[in-house]
Amino acid sequence: MLNGEKKIARPLRWGMVGGGRLGQVGYKHRIGALRDNTAFQLVAGAFDIDPARGKDFGVNIGVSEKRCYPNYETMFAEEAKRKDGLEVVSIATPNGTHYEICKAALHAGLHVICEKPLFFTSDEVVEIKALAEEKGKIVGVTYGFSGNQLLLQMRAMVEKGEIGDIRVVELQYTHGFNATDDGDKVNAAQKWRVDPKIAGPSYVLGDLSTHTYYMSQLIMPQMKIKKLLCDRQSFIGSRAPLEDNAYVLMHYENGAVGRLWTSSIDAGCMDGHRIRIVGSKASLEWWDSKPNELRYEVQGQPIQTLIRSMPYLDESCNADERLGALHQEGLSESWSNIYLKFAIAIDAKMRGDQETLDTLVYPDINAGLEGVRWIENCVRSADQGSAWVDFESNKEAAL
Ligand code: NAD
Repeated sequence: MLNGEKKIARPLRWGMVGGGRLGQVGYKHRIGALRDNTAFQLVAGAFDIDPARGKDFGVNIGVSEKRCYPNYETMFAEEAKRKDGLEVVSIATPNGTHYEICKAALHAGLHVICEKPLFFTSDEVVEIKALAEEKGKIVGVTYGFSGNQLLLQMRAMVEKGEIGDIRVVELQYTHGFNATDDGDKVNAAQKWRVDPKIAGPSYVLGDLSTHTYYMSQLIMPQMKIKKLLCDRQSFIGSRAPLEDNAYVLMHYENGAVGRLWTSSIDAGCMDGHRIRIVGSKASLEWWDSKPNELRYEVQGQPIQTLIRSMPYLDESCNADERLGALHQEGLSESWSNIYLKFAIAIDAKMRGDQETLDTLVYPDINAGLEGVRWIENCVRSADQGSAWVDFESNKEAAL
């Protein structure tokens, strides 16, 4: 159980690019990083594309005025001159900016925590991965839902064979908040999401399904996709070529099959985020809207609901417990768990502790790479008229 005690020698000096006053995701980063007072300390930021608003915001949340910078270039240059300068930076800006900012951060000698989808192409990720290795730095990716410890329970149960051989994987991340195009015109965060120059080659496949795809890999690390077929649509025509709805069928190497539905036009749906894994003996099902519960359905037996924090859960699951039985945990705790693991990874990297790095389970740059590959494969299939395509994951080896 976690109670905020230190896991690393001292808090890391942390800054943010983006995530300012009007940013959707910035507060989730701060909740995640600052929950454990012993992991990160927010010392600097280039919080906003508007420098004045960024400075005002930074001061408002307690950052020293002189360390609220007008842009990331100035921040990296000025912080490098300080003895107590930044050690790690989080990037919470629109997709199209991630690659340049990440590269600049690594060149400035910083560890990086970056939003998903990491970059536009897997070649870019491979390049940045090599740069991070050269500089001896960590790049983490904020798949923020993946810190829910019941996903580790699912991972443990799959590994122990408690559901048998995996046969069917059902993934869904849908909502209805963009069922009309109202937000496309007036909401800054929605405007860029449907602009390929800023969003990249996909809308909901990148924005939503990269989370669910990573979570499925976390639960079943041994399951590799062999082929997939993607059918994507833009029900709001002005969003084309970017999809606001997509279906993906998967064939896994072990003979299992899978299906993923992602959508922002699932009208009336407030949170359709779920993972169901069907094995030869039993099934597991987790819904983001019920994050404290895991359904365990054994064929021929009464359905069980496993509840977070109980002693019957796997040790790996309860190690990430924060509030204890009787109380609900949710997305905030999930982000805190992820950020704590980023801190542990960065600290281990600084100390040259390879054993910790080899055993720590967290969304690292390989998870970011797989997410970008997932999008590339889906888009390639869709653009070939929804053809079955081999899941390409060998680009790195080719370089
Ligand atoms: P947003 O448009 O709401 O906010 C973007 C923020 O970045 C704003 O504060 C803006 O002023 C700032 N910004 C833009 N360019 C900048 C620059 N060059 N320098 C400094 N600041 C800059 O976007 P959002 O919805 O918060 O999404 C940001 C990123 O987070 C995207 O990559 C998105 O995919 C991702 N996201 C992830 C999750 C998650 O659960 N992990 C949730 C939402 C968004």
